[in-house]
Amino acid sequence: MQRGEIKLIPNSLYTILTEHQHQTYSEIQEVYDYDETLDEYFEFLVENELGFWTDTPEFFPPLDMTWQTYSSINNAIIDIDAASTHDFKAIFAQLEELGCDHIQLRYYTDVSKDTLEHHLESTKRSRFKSIELVVKYGNLLDIPAAEALVVSNARIHKLVLHGAPESDIRPVMKPGTDFSLGQMILLTYEITSADHCGVIDPFYFSIDTKTMTESHQFNTCLNKKIGIDAQGEIKNCPSLTESFGNIAQVSLHQAMLQKDFKKLWEINKNQVEICKDCEFRHICTDCRAFIQNPENVYSKPSKCNYDPYTASWSNP
Ligand code: SF4
Repeated sequence: MQRGEIKLIPNSLYTILTEHQHQTYSEIQEVYDYDETLDEYFEFLVENELGFWTDTPEFFPPLDMTWQTYSSINNAIIDIDAASTHDFKAIFAQLEELGCDHIQLRYYTDVSKDTLEHHLESTKRSRFKSIELVVKYGNLLDIPAAEALVVSNARIHKLVLHGAPESDIRPVMKPGTDFSLGQMILLTYEITSADHCGVIDPFYFSIDTKTMTESHQFNTCLNKKIGIDAQGEIKNCPSLTESFGNIAQVSLHQAMLQKDFKKLWEINKNQVEICKDCEFRHICTDCRAFIQNPENVYSKPSKCNYDPYTASWSNP
């Protein structure tokens, strides 16, 4: 978790680490009739620093699996197209009141650096921890202008430039230093609506303790999320269809109080069909907007090409 890496292990090693977790190595060897594969398993754990030998296992209690947050809303997505009339200052003030840490702004049509600076103006004195921008490459915003935006806004930790002339992932450095201020992702394809969301791919896996512990109880995409679509409709996520009012008439807090606003928050991967058998379920993001069977809210994300029963990606 601390290194953000995954290592695949055989099911038999998983059994040893769980069913025999309180036994000594000699006791386990006895159970498996001194099979030399056991030595290979434990060498693998030590070599990869996933374990070490100790005579005092009581000093190492199990990982605390509690997941907690102080905020009513942890992250927000705001979609913007050419017809959007969002009052960004008012929206950001409401998000701050809800304790929101992370915001993502997704622009589907051309936007200039000056307009982006204007939209982000009120975040400069906010308590948001991070801002992610998804913006369109074009005449109004080229790569140097996008980089300058990251340099002048300390809260931007990631900027995705879609419709760019090349594909790349690169750090944005503080001028004259080797200090990275954020990440720029260049995509050659265009993102034109919320329908582009929901892709499941190892690139999006979140290998960290926070996601892993949250995934045991909650949905790793929709829990504590709020979305405002390009028309101002307040939703759990802009890609979902159910609206809880328009931001022009209803506050985010009022929308959240409605009965069904949180109904998807507790659908976790242990309940989702097929995902519940997948080895990636506690680092994978989820999506309830695009699912294989729209009549079954527990069906697998439709934009996942992984088959956990054959351990293969059909279209990597
Ligand atoms: S099967 Fe489910 S848990 Fe596994 S990678 Fe696909 S969406 Fe994620």
